[in-house]
Amino acid sequence: MRRLPGWARAELRADPACAGLTTGEARWYAERALDEGRRQAEPYRGRNPLELAAELGVSVSVTDRDPVVAGRHVLAEYDAATRGIAVCRASLEERADEVGERRAMAEHVAHELYHHLEATCLGRLEERLPPVVVRQVLGLWPVRRRVRACSEIAARAFAETLAGAALEGEEEATG
Ligand SMILES: [Zn+2]
Repeated sequence: MRRLPGWARAELRADPACAGLTTGEARWYAERALDEGRRQAEPYRGRNPLELAAELGVSVSVTDRDPVVAGRHVLAEYDAATRGIAVCRASLEERADEVGERRAMAEHVAHELYHHLEATCLGRLEERLPPVVVRQVLGLWPVRRRVRACSEIAARAFAETLAGAALEGEEEATG
């Protein structure tokens, strides 16, 4: 059995739709999402995410505001209406301390490029996976909930595959 990355487990734990899932069920969603993100990155392997964004007609900017989506602080945001990626400066600088500026930028942009692909051709991953059926104690009908964490897990797997491959050789060369 493959080991799930800690960040993927954290994404699932933060998703209210997953509250009633067994460990095995949660793993099923995470594995679909990891596979999907990596598979979608394959055609772009080795490409610089910033160049790829330009090629796909997606603009990239760095913003000083802290984007909040559904009550959560996000690292960056993709706006389908403007086909624009806004990367949060604070998040970028924090990650740059760990992996360097170029890689931090590549990761953030690559992550949002996955959401761009979802918005323009793939559709949100959670909509393509079966919903979680929640049986309510007092409710008459079971509630169906989409696992939104799947889209985030796929985006991160996409970013790691894409940005990792694009920058590996370069980082070795510069130390
Ligand atoms: Zn995301």
